[in-house]
Amino acid sequence: MSQTFDADVAVVGSGIVGTMTALALQDAGSCVLAIEADEPGAGTAAGSAGYVHDGEIFPVAQPRLLADLPRLFFDPFGPLVFRLSYLPQMLGWSARFLGSMRAPAIAHGIAALASLNRLAIDALFAVANAAQAQDLLVHRGGLKIAHAARTFEGFAHEVELLQRAGIPARIVGADALHAMEPALGGDNAGAILFPNSAHCIDPSAFGKRLAARVRARGTIVRARASALLPQRDGSWSVSLNGSASRVDVQRVVVTAGYASPALLRPLGYRAPLAAARGYHLMIEHPGIELGHPMIFHEPHVGATPMRSGLRLAGTMEFASPDARPDFRRAEMLYPIIRRYVPSLQNDTATTWAGIRPSMPDSLPAIGKASRHDNLYYCFGHGHLGFTQAAISARCIAELVTHTKPAIDLAPFDLERFS
Ligand SMILES: Cc1cc2nc3c(=O)[nH]c(=O)nc-3n(C[C@H](O)[C@H](O)[C@H](O)COP(=O)(O)OP(=O)(O)OC[C@H]3O[C@@H](n4cnc5c(N)ncnc54)[C@H](O)[C@@H]3O)c2cc1C
Repeated sequence: MSQTFDADVAVVGSGIVGTMTALALQDAGSCVLAIEADEPGAGTAAGSAGYVHDGEIFPVAQPRLLADLPRLFFDPFGPLVFRLSYLPQMLGWSARFLGSMRAPAIAHGIAALASLNRLAIDALFAVANAAQAQDLLVHRGGLKIAHAARTFEGFAHEVELLQRAGIPARIVGADALHAMEPALGGDNAGAILFPNSAHCIDPSAFGKRLAARVRARGTIVRARASALLPQRDGSWSVSLNGSASRVDVQRVVVTAGYASPALLRPLGYRAPLAAARGYHLMIEHPGIELGHPMIFHEPHVGATPMRSGLRLAGTMEFASPDARPDFRRAEMLYPIIRRYVPSLQNDTATTWAGIRPSMPDSLPAIGKASRHDNLYYCFGHGHLGFTQAAISARCIAELVTHTKPAIDLAPFDLERFS
């Protein structure tokens, strides 16, 4: 049965990326139908660390990981693990991941991520202001902390690369760091300060406010899109809930996170996306206060001060999206971060798991389908979806309205995988 909605564009998936995309299209004058199988405006971002981090411009695929791979394979509590049952599905992804470790690929990745991140924070605040959600964002900068002197020495080169890429960053020595964040132990070696970074003090409430604004200016239908069917005149039918019903629209944007490739594959588009699960531990009474969101570099885990406590987040677990989460991976965040924050308490913590839609080259897929009219995609933001959703969404709206996008979208084209 075909359902009629007063809409010219369907946005499939309403996590942070889809919700931002719907808002950007509405700003550009489109009549939007958002299709979401679950809670609109929630998705992975609701449980994320909410760190709006312009300084994350380094692709995950780095040659130094190779030395660690044997240990990573066999340590079930390492920062990065693979579930054996998921490995067959990751073969193509892994080959591309290894290919992304070449120096030219890394330089290309840094330039592309920086092009998004330079505009990401202004874009996010513009959306937050329009949705009256700016009170949930704090624009006070962010930190990346080194415990060991050797790690800290490496930060100088990183800051050089960041500055060259146009991302504000500066070194903070041990004493200045302790003065800035007294809850950190005095034995941390130092940090990088990202003065332009920001954080969200309640990512779940933030997503709800954005979804409310989408709904106020358009329609959100709670259904699972099961197929995208191109029509002869260039328009689209979207089957919902199997083939129980369908909607007819002029254009479609696929923003379904890790489920996006399954919608695009029948149309001939390949997207090597892996499900990289991450965990959080929400501590209601941490017994300390942090003023900034921060990444602890050994290994890469984070903590963000939120209005309901301190959220510890991180670790990568490559596993089938429907595999049962292993919440011991959330619990392990506490002892890791306590090395940096010795007085941190953990008496009332809750755990959560969510999936990062991760591309092997760390670059999201943002663009227009090459072999179909009126089909667009925006997914695969990995560990940076909260940061990059608003700028990515703006680029999609620019493509749809035939305006020159704010950034060069060539590095994000899905055709790089064909
Ligand atoms: C522990 C952790 C911490 C993180 N911290 C940060 C951080 O500090 N900063 C940062 O920038 N990023 C962070 N991230 C990453 C960020 O959360 C993700 O990149 C982002 O949430 C992905 O958003 P998305 O909208 O693309 O996908 P999703 O959140 O997966 O949303 C996709 C939506 O599509 C819907 N959907 C799927 N299939 C269909 C279908 N067929 N029909 C209809 N609907 C469908 C799903 O129900 C879902 O709501 C973190 C992630 C994790 C796991």
